Amino acid sequence: MNPLFSLSRAVLLRMSRASAIGALVQRTAWGRRAVQRFVAGNTIEEAVAVAVAAKQRGFTVTLDRLGEASTGAAADTYGADASRLLEAQAAADLEPNVSVKLTAIGLAEGEEAAARRLDQILAVAARVDGFVRVDAEHASSLDALHRIVLAARAAGRPVGTVIQANMRRAPSDVALLTSAGVPIRLVKGAYDPGADGVGDPAAVDAAYLALAEQLLATSVPLAFGTHDDRILEQLAERAHGRAEAQLLYGVRSDLAERLLSAGWRVRIYTPYGPDWWPYSLRRMAERPANLRFVLRSLFGR
Ligand SMILES: Cc1cc2nc3c(=O)[nH]c(=O)nc-3n(C[C@H](O)[C@H](O)[C@H](O)COP(=O)(O)OP(=O)(O)OC[C@H]3O[C@@H](n4cnc5c(N)ncnc54)[C@H](O)[C@@H]3O)c2cc1C
Repeated sequence: MNPLFSLSRAVLLRMSRASAIGALVQRTAWGRRAVQRFVAGNTIEEAVAVAVAAKQRGFTVTLDRLGEASTGAAADTYGADASRLLEAQAAADLEPNVSVKLTAIGLAEGEEAAARRLDQILAVAARVDGFVRVDAEHASSLDALHRIVLAARAAGRPVGTVIQANMRRAPSDVALLTSAGVPIRLVKGAYDPGADGVGDPAAVDAAYLALAEQLLATSVPLAFGTHDDRILEQLAERAHGRAEAQLLYGVRSDLAERLLSAGWRVRIYTPYGPDWWPYSLRRMAERPANLRFVLRSLFGR
């Protein structure tokens, strides 16, 4: 990997966890302007309007109320917003579908607190015939993630989760989760895997393809969350009718349109809300050239 790229990636990933700086920048008008490409507004109403427009163009959407590292009242608010999102989607005649992060619903307070808030969201999802995907975060949280998701699944809740191909443990996690019928989104992984990583980007791509094969051999509902057109092309023949492609809002919209025309079901992961710092910094770490867009939106062309 280009050493300059790895350095800027490492710096951006570290900055994404600098919550004190993030809290300050998030409050500024220029900060919000800088990330509007990746974040669909501040409110549920704005996010739902974006989802309605996406539906008119042939896409489905998962909505995500941005927020990480929340506890107490902040985690309660996040959980309540996720439930309101599901209801707002149903009211707008959209498929109720949200993604949530355990750190946003109080994982730092303990597994039980996060599981309790997740169950409140899942109860609403069950009522409106919706679905909740629990995103995968840092390596240190994956065991808790799997215990919580497996328990919710055993209770018959409409829940799925995410596998990160950059983690060496991913094949055994796929076996564990798919044997319980848990729907899976496969991604490359946005967090630093530390010593548990599979290696450089080429190794992650190889791991992604091997995991895709492992998943295609199961019967769980399946999504490929990637903007990598070479990977999607390789999977297209077996994936059509069996899996959907998922892309992030504001990233490679050209590819999203092409995939639709090529016969994929395409879902756009659409985040909204005022707590956009960690999410947006991870998007820049994936492609430091995104900093150019950000600077351009701040300072004009
Ligand atoms: C729907 C969805 C959900 C996700 N959920 C999770 C999750 O729960 N946990 C997790 O760890 N990660 C998640 N991710 C992020 C994922 O792990 C990767 O970090 C991210 O998708 C970039 O990898 P890639 O597969 O697109 O491949 P890459 O090899 O990084 O990129 C492929 C192509 O897309 C372009 N591209 C990639 N990212 C960007 C960007 N930000 N801006 C502009 N162009 C870009 C690249 O330049 C390249 O041309 C999710 C991704 C998606 C699409």
